[in-house]
Amino acid sequence: MAGIYTHIPFCFSRCGYCDFYKTTRLDRIGPFVSVLMKEIEHYSSDLNERIETVYFGGGTPSLISVKDYRDIFKQLRDNYDIADSAEITMEANPDDINEDYLDAMLQIGFNRISIGIQSFHDRDLKEMGRRHNSVQALQAVNIANKAGFDNISIDLIYGLSWGDIGSFRENLSVLKGMPVQHISAYHLTFEEGTPFWQLLKRGIYKEIKDSESTEQYQELCRFLADEGFEHYEVSNFCKPSFHSRHNSSYWNHTPYIGFGPGSHSYYDGVRRWNKPDLSLYLRSEWDSIVESEILDNRDLVNEIVMLGLRTARGLDTGRIRALDESYYELVLISSRKWLDAGHLIMDGQYIRCPEDSWFIVDGIIKDIFI
Ligand code: SF4
Repeated sequence: MAGIYTHIPFCFSRCGYCDFYKTTRLDRIGPFVSVLMKEIEHYSSDLNERIETVYFGGGTPSLISVKDYRDIFKQLRDNYDIADSAEITMEANPDDINEDYLDAMLQIGFNRISIGIQSFHDRDLKEMGRRHNSVQALQAVNIANKAGFDNISIDLIYGLSWGDIGSFRENLSVLKGMPVQHISAYHLTFEEGTPFWQLLKRGIYKEIKDSESTEQYQELCRFLADEGFEHYEVSNFCKPSFHSRHNSSYWNHTPYIGFGPGSHSYYDGVRRWNKPDLSLYLRSEWDSIVESEILDNRDLVNEIVMLGLRTARGLDTGRIRALDESYYELVLISSRKWLDAGHLIMDGQYIRCPEDSWFIVDGIIKDIFI
């Protein structure tokens, strides 16, 4: 079982908070697709496992044309054993979506769409530098639903510098009864190098207080629980059986191969990544594009701790024990104080963080790291 991730590094414009690798040079989409086809073939003998998930992220995958996707999928299917039941996701921006395009995406094989809604408020969307407005946000979900997508995810951002609990509640209330099966909700962060980082440094934006962040997170959890969503990872909620299989496979260390500049891969115990540089990528000199590191047991244990504690199921201590008995002991020792304080719970061989402590889970993870 394995996955494929493809990074589409193009955006029509740049959102103020975003630190993903992207370029607004849309004239390079054609050359990029040609090199992507070569890359897909080049690595075809590296991953000889059945592909259960395929994910197109970005950037903006919905900027790629129907014809290009037909070619890309032919190349993927010719070179990899993609299961008929594979989960195949595309990220899309609300303003790119129309019914004809989505019809074609369904025919090509996509069966899950992740729409970058971020907010249903015009003011939020404007501040964030998004191209869509609140009407387009609503329309996008309805168009995807009408086109026949029955696995629709949306992204939301909370903890906005200019927002408050009232406006966040209003944002959530729009979601009532909406035909979405999955929600990823992220707190606004000020990543170094982004326009928002500059605005923070200049004092134009401020980070909201921890107490406000916690209040909004708790409101989010309560609201989505009432709407029938399971909270299966710190930032991810789904209707029963609609968890993201692709993301879950990252958390379980399932092998995956990444294509496109800035993409990551993990297989044969090695983490590889393409340098985030489209000009370099377009030269298709693979050895100069790729960097890699071999994960030793300590790296693996820390990843298992980090990824496991962020999920409802928790951290599988059995996996750590199978890797290294002494690291297993260390993890148990450093978990003890958090278990005693009730911020962690022992559940068979799993240690999990209860939902009401998830807002401090990053601190717990850092404390347990080896
Ligand atoms: S948030 Fe999405 S659309 Fe906006 S710049 Fe980043 S990748 Fe592009």
